[in-house]
Formats: sequence, structure tokens, C-alpha cells
Amino acid sequence: MRNFFRVGLCPCRNYEEGAVEEAVKIAMDRSGGGPLLQDNVLIKANLLAPVRPELCVTTHPSILEGLVRWVKTNKPETKVTVSDSPGYLFSGQWPLFMENCGIRSLVEKHSCKVIPLNEEGFQEVSTPGSVMLEDIRIPVKVAEAGTLINVAKCKTHVETEITACLKNTFGYLDTPTRKRAHRSGSLRQLCDAILDVHLSRVPDWNLLDAVIGMEGYGPSHGKPRPMGWIIASENALAADVVAAFMMGYADPFSIPLLSSAARRAMGPTQRNEIELFGAKWEELPVPGFRKSPSALRRFIPTPLRGMAHTLVRLAPSWDADACIFCGACAAVCPLKAIHAGRKVLAIDRTICVGCLCCHEMCPTGAMAVKPNLLARLLLNNK
Ligand code: SF4
Ligand code: SF4
Repeated sequence: MRNFFRVGLCPCRNYEEGAVEEAVKIAMDRSGGGPLLQDNVLIKANLLAPVRPELCVTTHPSILEGLVRWVKTNKPETKVTVSDSPGYLFSGQWPLFMENCGIRSLVEKHSCKVIPLNEEGFQEVSTPGSVMLEDIRIPVKVAEAGTLINVAKCKTHVETEITACLKNTFGYLDTPTRKRAHRSGSLRQLCDAILDVHLSRVPDWNLLDAVIGMEGYGPSHGKPRPMGWIIASENALAADVVAAFMMGYADPFSIPLLSSAARRAMGPTQRNEIELFGAKWEELPVPGFRKSPSALRRFIPTPLRGMAHTLVRLAPSWDADACIFCGACAAVCPLKAIHAGRKVLAIDRTICVGCLCCHEMCPTGAMAVKPNLLARLLLNNK
């Protein structure tokens, strides 16, 4: 018998509170009704940086608020916590997240806990079938959540092409494990590490904020792009396939992260194994959506695809004029390839693996992405 994966969608054109709340409810209903709610519900958001919601780097607070209301309506006595792991670089800056990401109202209006994911420390979990990361340390909060709802933001990603539900759970990790996952410089291995983490605690349900997504140089420095949907599914891969299709990927499984997940039997292996509720496939693609520059790899002839990661390289490029010498890029680099002084910064190209974590975490965009010659040629001919 054939397996079908259900995805619920609801159109939503902006973040007006009442409209979002209704759309979240409809999307959850259409996705099959949502998870079984236990006494403690953890909502894992995407709070990548302490920046304003309009920049579309983080899950919009209206989506979180709509989901909290949905949970409270369905199980009024449950304890709800909204959380993410900004500990990577921003430890001690949680008040800034509360202020800038617009999440303080969740405490004031709904009495939820809004805390960093690492607040109660980490614990080691065994992940049967792990491919890259043998021992994974995940937050105690994640391990002990009665119900875990993954609430991601729909964005491009300079390394993995897209970031949605599968990638959002990579935020469980503590800093050393995250750095370990990036160190190889191999996209295939990074994808497997991301999936290992997802499998360490599979969310009970997934909700994707694709109302206004991000195109281009995501997940931090792309441009907001209206997409107009809220997506919900029990299966993260199925939701991500729908998101990728919206972003203009006629074959979402050409994205390495999604094809790796399909190979590991984490969900559908082709688009026709997904049943949409609330939309038709043909109405989903956002016209002219600008994909991540790493999508250029698919312009490499098929026999050379295995080498695509090496042939089409996107390297970090430092702009001294835009730099505020905060040191975030040096702190985040898994290879210690960046030497940051008080007024100077140097990248050791002999050890850099091009993971672009420095670009992702740079607050000003001074650490930009420079395509190599082949990538530039492909960009010009696209
Ligand atoms: S310099 Fe940047 S791209 Fe290179 S390894 Fe370090 S973080 Fe990754
Ligand atoms: S390049 Fe960006 S992250 Fe690095 S020191 Fe300058 S402003 Fe900070």
C-alpha cells in the first residue's frame, strides 16, 4: 500500500493578528488536526538573531501567538513554552531577543514561558540510524517536551539552498556539536548531520511561516519576499517539499537536504506521495522567487554533479568598511580560519571550508558571499 503524507495549507497575506490566528487554526485542521497535546508543550521557533520581525530572519511573533492560542484553545490547562537556542553566539542576550523579535507579548498576553532552549542544559541522546553524529547533545527541554511543535521560517540558505522544517531542528544543538557538523565542508555530510539532529527528537508537528519568506542570500541577509501561505504537517520533509515547490523548485528532491531525507525514509520520496489540503500545486510557485546562489550547482552537467560543491564555490568575502569588528565571524568559524583584531580581520583561505557560518552570523553583512569564477559565469548566464 502506498504511503501518503498530508500537508495542510491556508492562504495568509500579512501578519495581521486575527487573520494569522485563523489561518494557523485552518492550516492545523487541514493537516490532520495537529498533535496530541500533552501537559507541557514546547514550541521550537526560529530565533536566529535578535532582529526585528520585518527582516524575516525569525519566525514572526503573530505566527507564534496564533499557535499558542490554538494550543490553549485545544488544551487550556497545558503549559506552553516558546524557545530557541541563541546560545551559539548570543548567550546572555536573551532580553534583546525578547525585545527585538517581538516575543515579549507572548509572556504578557498568554502567560507562556519564553526562554532560551539551553536554559536547563543539555543531555546526550542516542540516535539509532545516525549517519554523521554519533553522540548528540540536545537541550533537556527538547528531550523532556511532552509535545514538541516545530515552527520554522521559510527562507533560502546559502549552504543548504533552503531552510524550513528539517533545518530548524538543527537549532537543538550545543555549540561544539554544531561546529563539528560544519567542519567537514562536505554538503552531503552536513545534510546528514542536520537529519541526525532532526531524528534525535522528531517534532510531533510542524508549522511553517511562509507568509513573507526570504529570498536570495538567506538565512540572514536575503530579502523579504511575500509568499502568502501558512503550511502545517506532521511530516517535516513533506512540508519542506511544499515550501521548495513554492520557491520555484519544480523538483524539490533535487535539493540535497531533501533528497538525503527521502533516502533515509523520513517522508515522501516523490511529490505525488504528498496530499495537499487547502491548495493545488499549480497555485503555489511564487513568480520570480530568487533562489539561494548555491542553487547554481544544479547548472553543472549531471556527470559532474558529485563535484558541484567544489566547482561552484561561494566563499566569504570581507568588507572592511561595513565591519564593526564585533568578532562574531571569528567566534562562529568551526575551523578558526578567521583572525579578528581590533581594526583588522584576516581569513585563512588554506583552512576555510566555505561553510559560510561567518556570513550567516555577521550582523552588518560585512562578511559577504563571493561566488568563484564558475559560479559568476553561471549567474551571468542564468
Ligand atoms: S571562514 Fe567562514 S566560510 Fe570559512 S570555514 Fe570559517 S565560518 Fe566557514
Ligand atoms: S565581518 Fe561581520 S561578524 Fe566579522 S567582525 Fe566584522 S561585523 Fe563582526
